[in-house]
Formats: sequence, structure tokens, C-alpha cells
Amino acid sequence: MRFADLQLIEPLLRAVHDEGYVAPTPIQEMSIPHVLEGKDLLGCAQTGTGKTAAFALPILQRLHAQPVPNPRFVRVLVLAPTRELATQIGDSFRTYGRHLGFRHVVIYGGVGQHPQTQALHKGVDIVVATPGRLLDIMQQGYAKLNRVEVLVLDEADRMLDMGFIHDVRRIISAVPRKRQTLFYSATLPREIQSLAHDILSSPVRVEVAPAATTVEKVAQSVCFVDKGNKFTVLQQLLRDAAIQRALIFTRTKHGANKLARQLNNVQVRADAIHGNKAQTARERALADFGRGRIRVLVATDIAARGIDVEGITHVFNYDLPNDPDSYVHRIGRTARAGASGEAISFCSPEERGELSDIERLIRMKLPVKAGHEARQETARAGGHASGHAGGRAPSTRFARSGSARGHEHRERPAHPASQGHAAAHGHQGSHGHGTSHEHGTTQGHPGSHAAPHQQGAPRSHGGSHPHGSAPAHGQSRFAGKLRGRHPKRRR
Ligand code: AMP
Repeated sequence: MRFADLQLIEPLLRAVHDEGYVAPTPIQEMSIPHVLEGKDLLGCAQTGTGKTAAFALPILQRLHAQPVPNPRFVRVLVLAPTRELATQIGDSFRTYGRHLGFRHVVIYGGVGQHPQTQALHKGVDIVVATPGRLLDIMQQGYAKLNRVEVLVLDEADRMLDMGFIHDVRRIISAVPRKRQTLFYSATLPREIQSLAHDILSSPVRVEVAPAATTVEKVAQSVCFVDKGNKFTVLQQLLRDAAIQRALIFTRTKHGANKLARQLNNVQVRADAIHGNKAQTARERALADFGRGRIRVLVATDIAARGIDVEGITHVFNYDLPNDPDSYVHRIGRTARAGASGEAISFCSPEERGELSDIERLIRMKLPVKAGHEARQETARAGGHASGHAGGRAPSTRFARSGSARGHEHRERPAHPASQGHAAAHGHQGSHGHGTSHEHGTTQGHPGSHAAPHQQGAPRSHGGSHPHGSAPAHGQSRFAGKLRGRHPKRRR
């Protein structure tokens, strides 16, 4: 399919052409016609799938269908969890709308509010905002949302994680009930389903499986290493000149600062970003990283969410995340827009439970990083680590089925080190269950079908896929389209 087949108007077609996009991504193909018709939409998709254009293009077209009011008022409101994501969405409206002449403002905290309230005062068509600052500004009487026609919630699950859900509900109560609502969330925990149910009306449901797409393209490995030795191992690995731009994840803000300091002490140029850093410092670190002035950016999960820096060659999990979904989000920072990348995870003896959860979710056993095999036998005590990647797990103790969401299972064996890979195999059946919903649209109650986004079976590197399931339909299509993309890039 081509963009022209989506009934987009010429100024938008020109803008996507300027960007070098060859064809719409699956989420664009599936969403744009419905959004153009004015329908509500529930999208299960992450950043990296092209979802911003999937909503921005048809929204711009709908705005364009009416004469620009004089004075202007806020007709589109987009809520996003982080400043970085809000800024990127604002940039996208500018990029895709460059031949149309709408005005937008991006509103977020951590910076002076004056330029933001000034822009509102002058009149804007589109507001992209993080909830906290927007609510502040609304309470001061600067933002009038009583004529909003389209409301977008982006990364709703992350807004919940970050404690914004009450702010979001308060903001929505100031928006007219009669409107179009587009709701995006990578996962659908209960509270998100309930929010979706409250604010959407007969939504079209659109899903893509970006997590698996990403997992498939990233060469992943693990190094078993004691906590106290992680820095030494990292230093050794960073001697490899192929690691040109590395994003390293730590669990805590303190850990991020400390690691950036340690790296600078050994002449590796690094900086850290996390929620405690001032906005200007975060922006500077990101810009330095994007331009290659620093080789390493150390980040916590929340700070890194929404970052779209091109050319990240390596992602390191210095600490494994507690939530296996975060692993997929993290490694998705490399392998952007069709590129391939490498993800290396450090696993200390205390983190083996987390590793098992991740392996269960991605349905492959992470191979041990070449040159770091020495510890694998002991680390995967329980025995089946070496050479069992494609075979049956030795124990079926955790081989339970019965959940549509395999990764919701959190049973742990008495000895985490012996958990190994058994559970991953045990959940095979339940994961397979969801694939018929892959990459499709349905209409109806948002809570009626809480299928996960990781339904597809990622193909592993090195042929270690446990059961050889075919990758989901959408994965290869997206990859194929991006491969065909014109080299010119935005951002
Ligand atoms: P998003 O998921 O909206 O953050 O988009 C991820 C990346 O994909 C961005 O860098 C976009 O510029 C890029 N992108 C969006 N749509 C397309 C497309 N149809 N073809 C190629 N790249 C795209």
C-alpha cells in the first residue's frame, strides 16, 4: 500500500514524501482510514512503530477540512507521559503539517511556563502536553479546552506508571464529551482498560507487535557477572570500537549518576539522564549523545522512554529491569527504523529471576556473550543452559498453561537459579493463543480483549528459538517497509 491509497490530501502526501517515507507502516495503514472517518481508536502499539504519524496525519487532515477559526482555539489535545515524547510528537505535527499552517505548542514542566502560556494566548490549534504542567496551566486559567475536537492519549500505560492517571482524568473532564478520542497503550493493565472504557466510544481496535519486531532485529546476549564486577566487565566491553553509541540502563537514578562518573574517570565520555535532572541538563545530554559528543548515555527506564536517538549501536542492561516488558522497551532503543543493533545484559546471581522472566516473555534464551562463557555453567545452575536452547526443558514444574498472557505468571521456584528455561516452554501454548489477533483491527469494548502486544514469536539470533514459531505477520511487513525507506531521515 502507498500513502496515496489512504486518501490523504496532497500537502500531507508531500510532507511524508519530504520525509522519505516509502510506504505506510502497518499501524498507519490500519489506523488512518478510521481516524479520517472520525472514529475512536484503541491502539496497542509502542513508540517505534510509526504511531505518531498514524494519528498526526489524519488529525491534520481533519483540522484542514474546516476553515481555521479566528481567533484560533485548541482543537486537538495530545497527552504524553514525558517531556521527550511530547517534544517528539510536537516535532511530528510540525513536520507532517509543514504545508498546512497550523500552530501547536508543547507544554511540559521543569522549564519556565511563560513561553507556553504566551503561545496559548496567541492562539494554537494543537496542544501537546504532559499532564502535570497542563493541569497547572489550566488551573491558572491559561488553557481553555472546552472546544477540543480530538483528544489523544499516548503511552497511557506509562502515564499510569508515572502516577499521572488522576491528572489525566481531571484534564479529560475539562474536554467536551462529544469529541474523537485516540488512545494508545503498549500494555492494557486493568486501570488502563477501565480508563479506555470510560473515555472511548465504540473504538476501533488496532494492534501491532513491535516488541517482537524489535526483539527479532536485535542481537542479544547476556554476561553472567557479580554485581561488584559489572563495571570491570563493562570497561572491557567498551574497548570494542564497534560500540559507537551506547545507551546503558541502570535501575536507579543514583546508579546512573555513579556509572556516568566512573566512566568519565576512565576516559569514556558519558552522561546520565533521569527524572531528577533539570530539563536543560537532560536536553544537553541527549543532544550531546545524538551528535556523538558523548559515547555513552546512562539512563533509567522512565527517563529513556520516548527517546528516539538515531544510531544507537548498543544497549546495555547494566541492571536487569524488574518488569520484563521494560527489557523489550530498552532494547528497542537500538534497531530503530529498520536498523539492527546489539543488546548486552549483565546478570548477577541476584538477578536470575529477572532474567528468567525476560526469557519467558521474549521466548528465547539469551545466548552468553562471546568471550564471557566461563561463568555460564555455574550461573545457570540447574543444568540445561548449554545446549538446551532448542530442546525440551528438563523440568515441567513450571510448565503451566491457562493464561492468555504468559508473562503475567510470576511463579518462582524455591531456588531462582534452578528456574532456568522451563517456564518459557511451559507458556508456549498460551503465547501462541494470541497470534490470531496480531495486526488486526476490531471494533468493540476496549476491555473485552486484553491481548498482549507481545503475541508474536520472535525469531532468535543464533537459531535458538525454542519452538520455531513463525514470526507474526506484522513484523516482517514493518521491517520490509522500513528497509525500503529513503535514506533521508527526520530527527
Ligand atoms: P514513532 O513510532 O511515531 O515514534 O515513529 C518511529 C520512527 O519511524 C520515527 O523516526 C518516524 O520518523 C519513522 N517513521 C514513521 N512512519 C514511517 C514510515 N511510514 N516509513 C518510514 N519511517 C517512518
